[in-house]
Amino acid sequence: MALIVQKYGGTSVGTVERIQAVAEKIRKCRENGDSVVVVVSAMSGETNRLIDMAAQIDPHGPAREMDVLVSTGEQVTIALLSIALEKIGAPARSYTGSQIRILTDDAYSKARILNIDDSRVRSDLDAGRVVVVAGFQGVDAEGNITTLGRGGSDTTAVAMAAALHADECQIFTDVDGVYTTDPRVEPKARRLDRITFEEMLEMASLGSKILQIRSVEFAGKYNVPLRVLSSFTEGGGTLITFEDDEMEEAMISGIAFNRDEAKLTIQGVPDRPGIAFEILGPIGQANIEVDMIVQNVGDNDTTDFTFTVHRNEYAKALEILRQIAAKVGARKVVGDDKIVKISLVGVGMRSHAGIAAAMFEALAKEGVNIQMISTSEIKISVVVAEKYLELVVRALHEAFGLDREPAMG
Ligand code: ADP
Ligand code: ASP
Ligand code: MG
Repeated sequence: MALIVQKYGGTSVGTVERIQAVAEKIRKCRENGDSVVVVVSAMSGETNRLIDMAAQIDPHGPAREMDVLVSTGEQVTIALLSIALEKIGAPARSYTGSQIRILTDDAYSKARILNIDDSRVRSDLDAGRVVVVAGFQGVDAEGNITTLGRGGSDTTAVAMAAALHADECQIFTDVDGVYTTDPRVEPKARRLDRITFEEMLEMASLGSKILQIRSVEFAGKYNVPLRVLSSFTEGGGTLITFEDDEMEEAMISGIAFNRDEAKLTIQGVPDRPGIAFEILGPIGQANIEVDMIVQNVGDNDTTDFTFTVHRNEYAKALEILRQIAAKVGARKVVGDDKIVKISLVGVGMRSHAGIAAAMFEALAKEGVNIQMISTSEIKISVVVAEKYLELVVRALHEAFGLDREPAMG
């Protein structure tokens, strides 16, 4: 008898009929003798609907109240799913994050899980019940409701699996696994049977929204066997594994992209020691996270400095940068929020030269201008104009033969 944590995302519970179908799946799993803890998201579109309503009153509503608001989406789903389970003879109990006591820090809208009290869950499982937990939410030490960031139900599921030492954490979604790239952008994308934690972490952190990045971090840290599967079709999905010798090392495992960034440039700043700090210090103080950074050597002892931030922080960053420009005597500040960062990811990359050149060649063939480049051991990222997203992803997919099974080496 295995203990399985299953997570169903927004589309999978998007209607009453789909919730009933999920209940059937859970019942079958129980009939095989497994114990099941289920984590659910809000019904699709619900979290956005709640945020939009608040924005009509105040686009920057108090963080505490925003978390109280957006956590309600998941509460609806746990109740409906438990009603559906009971109706088909599967005893079930629903719990909000605070009822379980998923303890988090107090960083509203991006809280981190600190501890999970598994006692209620265990006694329900012992009594033969299905435990249905609201994803995406927790409670801080003061009893305030917190949420874990968009896509956070994945993290709730993995954290529950870690706390319960579950045999597997299964993420059920609207695709049947992790693909070489988002199949919505490249229909020729190929499903991977396995992907390493390291690659999955890189894909998630570079913008691939199939799994929330923290869920992958958690799974890696606590050794949680993690699988991504479809709610709608049968199949083994994609297993996230630790690197092992038997895995054929694909040179490139996938392409991730991030449409949530914006680019800012401060031109003609005096090229002197400390200038990077003078520019990025105030940005950091305003709690704005910077991703890529490029400094160009200009002429006449001046330099240009370009960096990217989250699009939500673009306006704020631009304003701060204009103040800095005035202070340090820079020539000009320009910005662009119609950009996309596209990244090639693969652990095999570290042992292959020439990947960057092949990537740039593919972009050159398409006549796409590269605005920024950054590399690490297992990824290469470029920033290009957003309108080239599909073109570039498809060109890279083709150039690196990602639609074909890798040859055994
Ligand atoms: P859920 O609501 O179930 O959490 P999400 O929308 O968060 O679902 O994640 C599933 C979506 O992730 C897919 O519909 C797909 O468009 C997108 N996606 C992005 N990158 C990938 C990838 N590499 N493989 C599969 N799906 C991906
Ligand atoms: N409902 C939340 C969101 O839309 C959490 C999740 O779906 O994982 O981001
Ligand atoms: Mg998701």
